[in-house]
Amino acid sequence: MTFTYNMAGQEKLKTIRNIGIIAHIDAGKTTITERVLYYTGKSHKMGEVHDGEAIMDWMPEEKEHGITITSAVTTCMWRGHEIHIIDTPGHVDFTIEVERSLRVLDGAVGVFCAVGGVEPQSETVWHQADKYRVPKIAFINKMDRVGANFSGTIQMMRKRLGAHPLLVQLPLGVEENFIGLIDLIRMKAIIWNDGDLGATYEIIEIPSPYLSEAKRYREVLMEDLAEMDDRIMDKYLKEEVVNEQEIIESIRRLTLELRCVPVFCGAALKNRGIQPLLDGIVNFLPSPLNVPPIEGLNPSTGKLEKRESLYDVPFSALVFKIMTDQGRKLIYMRVYSGVLKTGSEVFNCNKKQVEKVARILQMHANRRERIEEAKAGNIVAIMGAKNSTTGDTLCDATHTIILEPIGTYDPVISLAMEPKTREDQEKINLALTRLSDEDPTFRFKLDEETSQTVISGMGELHLEILVSRLKREFHAQVKVGKPQVVYRETIGNMWEGKATFDREIDGVRHLADVGLRLRPRDRGKGNVFLVDMVEGQIPEDYLPAIQESIMDSMGGGIVMGYPIVDIEVTLITGSFHQSLSTELAYKTAAAMAFKEGCLSASPMSLEPIMSIEVVIPEAYMGPVIGDLNTRHGKIENITTKGSTRIITATAPLSEMFGYSTALRSSTQGRGTFTMQFSHYDKVLEKRTMSKLL
Ligand code: GDP
Ligand code: MG
Repeated sequence: MTFTYNMAGQEKLKTIRNIGIIAHIDAGKTTITERVLYYTGKSHKMGEVHDGEAIMDWMPEEKEHGITITSAVTTCMWRGHEIHIIDTPGHVDFTIEVERSLRVLDGAVGVFCAVGGVEPQSETVWHQADKYRVPKIAFINKMDRVGANFSGTIQMMRKRLGAHPLLVQLPLGVEENFIGLIDLIRMKAIIWNDGDLGATYEIIEIPSPYLSEAKRYREVLMEDLAEMDDRIMDKYLKEEVVNEQEIIESIRRLTLELRCVPVFCGAALKNRGIQPLLDGIVNFLPSPLNVPPIEGLNPSTGKLEKRESLYDVPFSALVFKIMTDQGRKLIYMRVYSGVLKTGSEVFNCNKKQVEKVARILQMHANRRERIEEAKAGNIVAIMGAKNSTTGDTLCDATHTIILEPIGTYDPVISLAMEPKTREDQEKINLALTRLSDEDPTFRFKLDEETSQTVISGMGELHLEILVSRLKREFHAQVKVGKPQVVYRETIGNMWEGKATFDREIDGVRHLADVGLRLRPRDRGKGNVFLVDMVEGQIPEDYLPAIQESIMDSMGGGIVMGYPIVDIEVTLITGSFHQSLSTELAYKTAAAMAFKEGCLSASPMSLEPIMSIEVVIPEAYMGPVIGDLNTRHGKIENITTKGSTRIITATAPLSEMFGYSTALRSSTQGRGTFTMQFSHYDKVLEKRTMSKLL
């Protein structure tokens, strides 16, 4: 790397941590975040506070003024480091939110409940994080609860997450006797003082009853490190002492290479374990300088380019969340390179528009701060860029780049709704536009025939929450129908043929031929448009119009009007007639050929198949499996965990409506399940089309 004049400024990047918290609902994310904000926000005063009462008062008050732990990003300071915590929601209906956050964060903390262990949703998110190569540390929370099982949770991390846990702490006591931790790096014990909300703690020698166990685990830690890290191995072989700093550096390297996951533990509710966890974030999780340069497409050359996390290179940033706050649009973005100044203009490379940056805001725990510039590695919110939406790249207009967009998901479920009054219709239109701006997995359209508004999204809960936000935040009164599955269509065979359009419109003749070949693609492969034609048969200028027309037709469906997927369309022939072949003629002929081809190539419907995990006490196995069978579920696996059984299965979404109620009643409320979209598949013969229509 070349050193540049403002390298000194870039040193600052080393002290930034952009992290997310990955957790199953109820694992303790909110409780941990509150503690983090409390200890970091007050850290400069901590030593002076003697009056426990005063702090007790402070917390609820702070809560009332809204510690914005629900905002997209909160920033706090710890040991001279700036930690940005990016919110990741727990429910799988909001997969896109999770992917979005994973895309822009550099490291993550996986939180597990010591009683529940690795639960399904944390497993899903953990694997997503693996996909994005996000380094992680783990925090085993709720060590104070009856049934807390530290080593059981570690086992589950190995088995269900395929992780390589590296124990850097042991709990000191368990359940009601959980009083602190053993730090296996420093070989000391940490005991929290009650009475000041865990703000202070003592570091003491490891109590003798725990000493032999601690030594044993320390040995395991060191052997593990030596096995993975040559530097430690060398010292080991030479029988040299490995000091604290060397151990930390080694763990940091291995964590960044995704070769291990350092494991911490505590009880957030009892204020235990939070400060060492913050140390862990600083010590082991990456700074923006540790992550590889971001890649993007240069739209003018069509080539991939890299942008380093540096200040004196062209500006680039990715919008990952839009939020409406007190009527104003906040655009959250991660800056990948360069510097953005308030009042300047940026180029939205996806929308091909210049946008004005009116304000740049740093979002802190409980307040926002106007700042003059945002630099590489920062996560900030801006105001003013009105047309930007999630996934857009903002960049320097003279150095354009499109950063790898965040994958979006197509909605699988829809719901028709009607306003109660005309006034409500207006409110709905405005509200739905806002909500779909915030959430790209949510779509809506007005059905002209029925004059109903149809909203679609990722699951029943997703739509339920959107409808309740309509009522609560936008005060719109609506009646909603039953949720419906969103199907897809595709073809089963190949087809080749052509269509001719020849008509006089307003005294002008339009004439063109377009020949296409259609081929089915594998499930989930998407659509492609190719050109394989003798050069000059159709002038190049018309090709984009032909492609556009076919893409439009794909949106509209063949048999039932659902979007077409997994199809390859190749333009193979055509004709050109001087002064008669117009864009209109090509577009229409292409649409005609496409439609005819689809109808002759064994069109079929595809339905969303969900993957489901049901957790139940053993006694309910019979009725639950019976019910899944009647829903055409395919049982894939049944595993045992103590007295509970975990059933994994796939089933068509259309059969799974109301499943939560059914499961509740068949297990007397003791069963839980998670469900997420898996893939689209052919509608089973025996479930016939009549069911769909
Ligand atoms: P989230 O859904 O992951 O945000 O979880 P919350 O922070 O809301 O916690 C869920 C529940 O677990 C709440 O009732 C918390 O009080 C409780 N809880 C959180 N941390 C602990 C802990 O360390 N010990 C115990 N016993 N309960 C906890
Ligand atoms: Mg919560």
